[in-house]
Amino acid sequence: MKAFYAEEQKRHDPRAFLSSGAAQPNPEKPERIERLLVGALSAGCTIERPRDHGLGPAAAVHTPEYLDFLEHIYARWQRIKGASAEVIPNIHPIARNGSYPASAVGQAGYHMADTACPISGETWQSALWSAWSAVDAAEAVISGAPAAYALCRPPGHHAFADVAGGFCFINNSAVAAQVLRKQAARVAILDVDLHHGNGTQGIFYARPDVLTVSLHADPVRFYPFFWGHADERGEGPGLGYNFNLPLPRKSADAAFLEALETAFQRIRAFSPDALVVALGLDAFEGDPFGGLSVTTPGFSRIGEAIAKLDLPTVIVQEGGYLCDELGDNLTTFLTGFGGKMR
Ligand SMILES: [Zn+2]
Repeated sequence: MKAFYAEEQKRHDPRAFLSSGAAQPNPEKPERIERLLVGALSAGCTIERPRDHGLGPAAAVHTPEYLDFLEHIYARWQRIKGASAEVIPNIHPIARNGSYPASAVGQAGYHMADTACPISGETWQSALWSAWSAVDAAEAVISGAPAAYALCRPPGHHAFADVAGGFCFINNSAVAAQVLRKQAARVAILDVDLHHGNGTQGIFYARPDVLTVSLHADPVRFYPFFWGHADERGEGPGLGYNFNLPLPRKSADAAFLEALETAFQRIRAFSPDALVVALGLDAFEGDPFGGLSVTTPGFSRIGEAIAKLDLPTVIVQEGGYLCDELGDNLTTFLTGFGGKMR
């Protein structure tokens, strides 16, 4: 299987992270890439550098003012006397139907959902290359590959059309789905990350052409708290095209695989032409976030089960944080998935 990744994706190196109000080192570290590369190579992937696709693919799922914000906010922030080294918001609008703020501080609050997505001078380029990895993986599938892997980092599934959040800036899974739409009339996105894919849900919430399905730790007591509940089903023409499967904390392989079968029923009923797997590996029992308890062999079974959908598939890396097994978990997922490929 082809895998896509660019060196520039390592440059973004966020420092700050607030967890329950306490300053912690940011867990979305560039070292994740090294571990995931080893995992992809061990699964037999060939690594390719993505091409420069310009702003088009990101602009297909994000607003122009948001992309302009991501590109320029760091330089503007540095001109504020006494400002932090990274862009971190300190005020958010309660409702988003007011006027658009002109100031850097106001725009940071408007376009950033939380404090887990600090923006440095390197963030924009890393996020763009991460998205371009997703574009080329989708292009490979359009060109006839049964599957391709995008080693996306920074991740994307918490990024809405005009809001960053949870380590995410450009929504790589949404970008991949939108690229697939050039050829596929219907695309399903299956998000198996520990956390609900709220940004992906938001981007496609009113659309019937992209089905969004997410398995995740129940947000009633887990990030992202305000999204990911079972009663969020889409709106307008998209009503019925969003499907959330919240799982009790510490759910292990059996419960995860059972929920996956429920997800497959919904996906088969939708009859998609292509699939995007938003592959978080943080549902692992040893992941620092500790929300679910999927085992390393469990990822192999998850990969094997998804392959049985027998759809052209773009696998987009989402979360999964530093632990000894991070690379192995990717290898076992890809091997399980590949073992069933025709
Ligand atoms: Zn996650």
